[in-house]
Amino acid sequence: MHSRWILRSLIASALATSAQAAVLPDVQKSSSWYSNAEQVITNKLGQTTKDKAKNVILFVGDGMGISTLTAARILQGQLAGQSGEEGYLSFETFPYSAQVKTYNVDAQTPDSAGTMTAMISGVKTDVGVIGVDEDIERGNCATVKGNELVSAVELAEIRGLSTGVVSTARITHATPAATYAKSADRNWEDVSDMPEAAVAGGCEDIASQLVNFEKNLEIRFPGIDVDGIEVAMGGGRRHFLPKDAAFNSADARSEVEGDRTDERDLTAEWQTTYSNGTYVMDKAGFDAIDASTATKVLGLFNESHMQYEADRANDIAGEPSLSEMTSKAIDILDNNDKGYLLVVESGRIDHGHHAGNAYNALYDTVEFAKAVQAAADATDPEETLILVTADHSHVFTIAGYPKRGNPILGKVVSVGSDEPSLASDGMPYTTLGYTNGRGFADLGSETNADAIYGIDPNAGRKDISAVDTTAPGFHQETTIPLSSETHAGEDISLHAKGPGAHLAQGVVEQNVVFHLINQSLGLLND
Ligand SMILES: [Zn+2]
Repeated sequence: MHSRWILRSLIASALATSAQAAVLPDVQKSSSWYSNAEQVITNKLGQTTKDKAKNVILFVGDGMGISTLTAARILQGQLAGQSGEEGYLSFETFPYSAQVKTYNVDAQTPDSAGTMTAMISGVKTDVGVIGVDEDIERGNCATVKGNELVSAVELAEIRGLSTGVVSTARITHATPAATYAKSADRNWEDVSDMPEAAVAGGCEDIASQLVNFEKNLEIRFPGIDVDGIEVAMGGGRRHFLPKDAAFNSADARSEVEGDRTDERDLTAEWQTTYSNGTYVMDKAGFDAIDASTATKVLGLFNESHMQYEADRANDIAGEPSLSEMTSKAIDILDNNDKGYLLVVESGRIDHGHHAGNAYNALYDTVEFAKAVQAAADATDPEETLILVTADHSHVFTIAGYPKRGNPILGKVVSVGSDEPSLASDGMPYTTLGYTNGRGFADLGSETNADAIYGIDPNAGRKDISAVDTTAPGFHQETTIPLSSETHAGEDISLHAKGPGAHLAQGVVEQNVVFHLINQSLGLLND
């Protein structure tokens, strides 16, 4: 190319650039919307990320679809006295993100068993099955053998890393179970939940698999020596105790707390296996754990699922929050110089939605964001990859044309108005709603969303003129009556920061999450 031509075009382009910049009026250039957004791009230009991590923390907000993120972000801001829309949940400020396709091999709209198996083993599978591939026949014990997958938690253990599984759901529930168990049915949480043929066929219930994790892994791979999951905390005590009131804990809700019909007390078995470990079942026991010296912790804080965050004060013996469990787990796991893999699930976002109660789904999402922030604060961004995602969405919508700052749990009030907008039927309507489910209920100050299951479903339009829709016990209206609100099939999001985070981008299948973990930790490297 001719050098004079190059010089001429350089001068022309320099003139064009400065003339170009002068086109922008002051109102635009001096707008904070403009400069704040420009800063986002400047920050991205300086962004660099390493490939290899020492530790990985995978956070899963169960049922935390995009509309849940938006609504929870607004609620979080409004709780802090702001308008709400302009804020971010902690992980929404992470530098990298991707859009994730959630379908199961045999289902357009997925469940938590198939999705978590995909995330933690790298292989998509059928709805309702745990840690096994699509060649399984759900509910058929005989089809498990030969179809078992190896999870990232198992690989991390084999590599000598410490591992942890934390959930506000029962620790035997689908999402946490997929990290350590193989089961033809997600509902086989204890032996009493299994068909006789499955027990006779040698299939082991999920709670038993948690307690026998180390032994089972060593039998499966002769010659390896692992030390077992360091931290397991959540709910679900009923699946670990015999069906005998003599075994009730001080936290028991039912007359007979345990469900097991094989007379086994798995909490005692666990304590025999890990004589230097600590079994805790309430907040006082949790607080007494010295994280600097603890080597093994099993925490079962509720007979069934742990309380909703908004309902936590009503627990009988007291239980820790998700952020407290997350901080404690990290403090224990980081005693291992080789690193750790920690999986944290907020299980009850999903349950709030299933009950058609946005209040609890959103308050649990805000607590989930707090737990992620606690993890970010407690770790070195140069050595810890933090992934935050959901397993699937819900039929939860943010609708109408509410004005900026309108209470997210409130009725739609339009721009320029102070009175609720009226629908064509002359009645006000809420911003948040569900396409299907149990429908409207006004349970006032009730903070347990599951109270709805004691009341008949009530779908269709109701006159909510005199109802406080921001109260904990308000259940949103719905169109299609179902015994429980359902999952939704649209994509969810993945947010990432730390070594390897830059590989989280684009639209990806859910089983890519495993490969992000594996790439960063090098779980299969020699
Ligand atoms: Zn271990």
